[in-house]
Amino acid sequence: MSVEPPTLERDDVHVVDDDRYTGDSVALVTGAASGIGRATAVALAVNGLTVAALDVDADGLGETSAKATDLEAPGEVRPVEADLTDDDEVIAAVEAAADLGDLRFVANIAGIQHVAPLEEFPMDVYDTMQDVMVRAPVLVSKHALPLIRDAGGGAVGNMASVHGHYVTSDKVAYNVAKFALRGLTQSIAAEGDGDVRSFSVSTGYVKTPLVVDQIPDTAAERDITEREVVEDVMLGQARATELMDPVDVANLFVLGFSKLASHLNGSDLTFDDGMTLTYE
Ligand code: NAD
Repeated sequence: MSVEPPTLERDDVHVVDDDRYTGDSVALVTGAASGIGRATAVALAVNGLTVAALDVDADGLGETSAKATDLEAPGEVRPVEADLTDDDEVIAAVEAAADLGDLRFVANIAGIQHVAPLEEFPMDVYDTMQDVMVRAPVLVSKHALPLIRDAGGGAVGNMASVHGHYVTSDKVAYNVAKFALRGLTQSIAAEGDGDVRSFSVSTGYVKTPLVVDQIPDTAAERDITEREVVEDVMLGQARATELMDPVDVANLFVLGFSKLASHLNGSDLTFDDGMTLTYE
């Protein structure tokens, strides 16, 4: 079993034949400097879209643009450096995305984790997590919605998690944020009047650098092998032996924004290998 961070190849990206998948259409992708956000930015560029790649990590954004160039993506990845905890920067980033063409799509992907029991959870950390994973997606949507309508319609996709369906201990801020993102998704569906669709994406563990890097430490802490960390701790209830790759999640955003998903509105793409729907 491989627990290496996967390499994204062009053939891994699902390409959809869609009239709106051209360089005139802009997709704003948050968290685009790493993991799932990077894969989504690159996958949308491979599908021909212009991507406004938002992150606080400028170096990481450079690597994302370079990856799209390496893969000879027909669409461009344009870095938009912004801190999602700063309202002015968020609003300016949405405007910068709209300056690149017709803003049609938004992927709210940026996220952070902190593990601590509820009774000890630091409230400043809680606030930052809500700012990045709930407030910013609401603010981005608030400013993007009229622009998407002006462009003739589009969609907002929000990266939730299995933790938006059920929860594990010691992750209260993350659990609350992921449930909230599903509320935002349904609110956009309600107010988008069919012109702006919305969907969320819920997966279990994905092979991002963040997850792969914690495997050796978890193995050492629990005195188990790395294979046992993946199979017993991370996959747990899932009917699978392999974690998802970031590009598998990116392809769900490619699908959700496309005409194939024209009747997907307000719902959640739960791709969790049965984790939340089966028991023992
Ligand atoms: P990651 O750490 O690889 O990437 C997160 C990105 O968000 C980073 O580039 C980071 O710089 C950016 N970010 C954090 N705070 C920011 C801020 N204030 N302003 C701008 N950018 C900021 O994480 P990932 O594993 O790719 O996760 C991406 C999303 O997917 C998160 O919302 C996460 O909760 C969700 N998710 C991840 C997994 C998983 O197993 N990796 C599973 C389900 C859901």
